[in-house]
Amino acid sequence: MGSSPRVLVVNSGSSSLKYQLVEPEDGTVVAKGIVEKIGEPGGVPDHEAALREAIESLRGVDNPEIFAVGHRVVHGGSSFGEPVLADDDVVAKIHELIPLAPLHNPANVRGIEVGRELLPHVPHVVVFDTAFFHTLPEAAATYAIDTEVAREHGIRRYGFHGTSHQFVAHAAAELVGRPVEEIDQIVCHLGNGASVSAVKGGVAVETSMGLTPLEGLVMGTRSGDVDAGIVFHLARTAGMGVDELDELLNRRSGIKGLAGVNDFRELHRLIGEGSEEARLALDVYLHRLRKYVGAYLAVLGGVDVISFTAGVGENDDVVRAGALAGLERLGIEVDPTRNAERSKQARVISPEGAPVTVAVVPTNEELAIARQTIALAQD
Ligand code: ADP
Repeated sequence: MGSSPRVLVVNSGSSSLKYQLVEPEDGTVVAKGIVEKIGEPGGVPDHEAALREAIESLRGVDNPEIFAVGHRVVHGGSSFGEPVLADDDVVAKIHELIPLAPLHNPANVRGIEVGRELLPHVPHVVVFDTAFFHTLPEAAATYAIDTEVAREHGIRRYGFHGTSHQFVAHAAAELVGRPVEEIDQIVCHLGNGASVSAVKGGVAVETSMGLTPLEGLVMGTRSGDVDAGIVFHLARTAGMGVDELDELLNRRSGIKGLAGVNDFRELHRLIGEGSEEARLALDVYLHRLRKYVGAYLAVLGGVDVISFTAGVGENDDVVRAGALAGLERLGIEVDPTRNAERSKQARVISPEGAPVTVAVVPTNEELAIARQTIALAQD
């Protein structure tokens, strides 16, 4: 440890600011922390105070010099398909995208603004969660609604978790020892939020999240795909307003809505105790996931590698086995012994010689952001 340049990765959310000081070369995490309760009683007053506290806490580390700062921003809209150096124009554009991500972009952009104020002499790079999906073909990105309305309001599929999908697709290619350009992959990012992507030769061609992170898989607290007619129906018959519906589908649905808990460890405990609601919640989750894997198999015309990542994907062998159960005829199989093994390493869980490699590939969004940041900062 010591002399390689260090990147401060900042994930500025509405009520918390997460930070990591990373050496992108080998992935060493020099320091990390979270400042919580921003703007809440007992917490710091605002994002400036939060970042100040983060920077203060780094003074304790040996050689706290920061070479560059990498900022995570959720929504890059149609404007950003790559990480960019933060300047006034970029900041203004991220402000313009706030209507597309009203819960995330305001705090994200605030992190960049205070970062540039507090650390004015280092490059600041912005890495967008949507960027990897900038390559989605028009047929995959377009909603079949009135073109004028869609154009005027930026209604299209953007996709999220892109940094993770990209990182995992590359790490999975490395794991199987083949160039990423030569293989077709399905990446299942299963955390509290969850999404699947289809990656053809390293390029994203489909993903399950859309205009917002609500579309697609059943998640911890989000419904994923529903008939949009449900929204009109509840507005008309239950008198629900927009905010209430937003809260219903984003926070009171998914595993939480069906089983009352959103953590998969809790879900399995409830299933063990005989809860039928919990059993159904898992079945609905696995059914949706399997349906997406099948759909993406068709989108790609066959797959070489399927990988699982994030909190659930990396830890939950029951979910991994359940999601791919019954797909043997398609060359997809999970080896029970390999699947049950616990490890922090990327690893193959399909049987030796199986036509499709199934893998567990730990994600590392901070490292991915740090690497993209240093690449731009050193240019
Ligand atoms: P996010 O970044 O979306 O908040 P993570 O990727 O950290 O989420 O995943 C968090 C989720 O991972 C938890 O809500 C829990 O459901 C699941 N999880 C974490 N550890 C385990 C485990 N050992 N077994 C099963 N699920 C786990």
